[in-house]
Amino acid sequence: YTIKKAEFMLCAAWSSQWPDESLPEVVMAGRSNVGKSSFINTVTNVQGLAKVSSTPGKTRTLNFFNINDEIRLVDVPGYGYAKVPKKMLEQFSEMIDNYLRNRKNLKAMILIVDYRHKPKDDDVTMYDYAKHFGIPVIVVATKEDKLKRNELVKNEKLIKETLDFDPSDHFVRFSSLKKKGVREVWDCILELCEE
Ligand code: GDP
Repeated sequence: YTIKKAEFMLCAAWSSQWPDESLPEVVMAGRSNVGKSSFINTVTNVQGLAKVSSTPGKTRTLNFFNINDEIRLVDVPGYGYAKVPKKMLEQFSEMIDNYLRNRKNLKAMILIVDYRHKPKDDDVTMYDYAKHFGIPVIVVATKEDKLKRNELVKNEKLIKETLDFDPSDHFVRFSSLKKKGVREVWDCILELCEE
């Protein structure tokens, strides 16, 4: 898949401000600091694209990116902060719930996890959420470059076991550093967006 255009569209928390439902969307979720911004920059091949969405004030909203006027990637704020005020956490959950539950053109979730570690409870919750709503998931195990060869299979198994991975979902070994897995990710996205 050739990226001819990748641009930040808008950020919006509530459905009244979301773009129309004319294009397929893929939502991206992951714990803060997992490497989600790097992932976005790497798959779009636009350095600094994800930075727009991490500027203050935009971190608690959904961020919509237009890819080739064909597909939208939707960035969800990173979860798993220890010190998020309860009120904010509730708003965050409500926003994501509203999006996952009601968005007609949502085709898939990309769940980004750290390939080195067992997924945390938050990751399992997010995966369960997607499964609950019948949303196909592409699990992207990032920072692959930090693993030793003998850990690749072992950690994939651990991640899948912890998530209670549905065999019809996708698992992609990814590294932003090595630009590994970009093609596989787009193959999965296109497959799911065409359905
Ligand atoms: P975010 O908070 O999820 O958006 O995470 P970032 O994309 O900002 O990445 C967090 C840290 O992990 C940064 O220091 C990145 O350089 C590093 N990082 C992200 N992806 C990779 C990767 O694939 N390999 C390695 N070695 N480091 C990575």
